Amino acid sequence: MYDFAIVGGGIVGLSTGMELGQRYPDARILVLEKENRWAFHQTGNNSGVIHSGIYYKPGSFKAKFCRDGCQSMVAFCQEHGIDYEVCGKVIVATEERELPMLETLYNRGLENGIQVAKITAEEVKEIEPHVSCLAGVRVFSTGIANYKQVCQKYADLIQQQGGDLRLNTKVLKIVDTPKGQVIETNQGSFEARFVINCAGLHSDRIAKLNQVDPQAKIVPFRGEYYELTPEKRYLVKTLIYPVPNPAFPFLGVHFTKMIDGSVHAGPNAVLSLKREGYKKTDFDLRDFTEVMTYPGFWKLAAKHADEGIQEIIRSFSKAAFVRSLQRLIPEVQSEDLVPTHAGVRAQALMNDGKLVDDFLIVKGEHSIHVCNAPSPAATSSLEIGKAVAAQIPTPQHLQPTLSV
Ligand SMILES: Cc1cc2nc3c(=O)[nH]c(=O)nc-3n(C[C@H](O)[C@H](O)[C@H](O)COP(=O)(O)OP(=O)(O)OC[C@H]3O[C@@H](n4cnc5c(N)ncnc54)[C@H](O)[C@@H]3O)c2cc1C
Repeated sequence: MYDFAIVGGGIVGLSTGMELGQRYPDARILVLEKENRWAFHQTGNNSGVIHSGIYYKPGSFKAKFCRDGCQSMVAFCQEHGIDYEVCGKVIVATEERELPMLETLYNRGLENGIQVAKITAEEVKEIEPHVSCLAGVRVFSTGIANYKQVCQKYADLIQQQGGDLRLNTKVLKIVDTPKGQVIETNQGSFEARFVINCAGLHSDRIAKLNQVDPQAKIVPFRGEYYELTPEKRYLVKTLIYPVPNPAFPFLGVHFTKMIDGSVHAGPNAVLSLKREGYKKTDFDLRDFTEVMTYPGFWKLAAKHADEGIQEIIRSFSKAAFVRSLQRLIPEVQSEDLVPTHAGVRAQALMNDGKLVDDFLIVKGEHSIHVCNAPSPAATSSLEIGKAVAAQIPTPQHLQPTLSV
């Protein structure tokens, strides 16, 4: 009988496992991951940014967990020798109409307790010589990290605590019995007192397997990237973002210096016809039908048809993608960019057509479900792990460590 069984070996599941191990050194912890390595899905295909927390609504979990998570992630990387760099970033307005929103972002940064500065177009050029803009905001605490290394370290620490880590183990069914939860997988059954669902793109389904209704459905949005050819990497020194569309939780295509020295451009945000669909042609009948028969999707589509169509055009037309990037760096050309990996975001959508804006954690009787953990959940992973662990009742036979 395990004390805690965690479904999902992405950055959220592993950080939660590590936190539980620190709280309850004698706990028996099990992590179940269906793929053959950690961080296979969202975590391993993201932009690798340690976000500052400037974008999020003051008082939200995202604002708090991201600001605190930015600091705790940097400290974790330092402590464990994980590749990271606090390089800062610029957000730039390239059209007059974006200036009020840039001002709003600056004020939001201040409200969220983040070190930000308004800078002129000339000052932007001192940081990013190839950017053409009207004005910018500099965010000092933004960084980049290798999140795959972070996950491996979280996994190592769970194992050192005595945790049981199972790859290639897909959860198929969860049965709540008087003795505990019986978790049926493709590798046999496991019993646990408490289940923690951190299944990312499948988190709504795992919640339902556990008789919990998250009141939202995961809709997959693919983010496609190009990469600057090595000769053109000089165009980008740090991270360059546009002013985002406030109606969406996505940040707009941007340039990101990665921790390996490459420079990525993207991601866009296009509806994926498969939850784990990394290619444009990927299709899954169940995933597709669930989205198409969900009233929330049609309400969202009706409201944002124009943006949706623009995203599809930008997905299929490299020229359209490059035009978006040229708004930031006019001299970037199509031949400077080659396609690279894509990632798929798990974004929860409510029945009324509203995208769930904040992190969403739903409690069951003997379970807890992380049902919306999109960006900046990698940055915030240590804080999400702490928040999830704090909501789990202390098992009768376990003593928490005094420091918690
Ligand atoms: C394109 C993109 C760019 C992003 N950029 C950033 C960024 O720069 N900075 C940032 O902070 N965040 C970023 N994010 C967000 C961040 O990557 C995610 O919020 C975070 O990785 C979510 O972690 P997770 O553990 O919840 O999900 P995941 O990493 O998806 O992990 C969930 C795991 O659950 C497993 N699973 C699912 N079902 C089952 C089952 N039945 N049985 C067993 N296992 C199961 C999956 O295989 C998967 O490994 C980005 C995301 C994307 C997609």
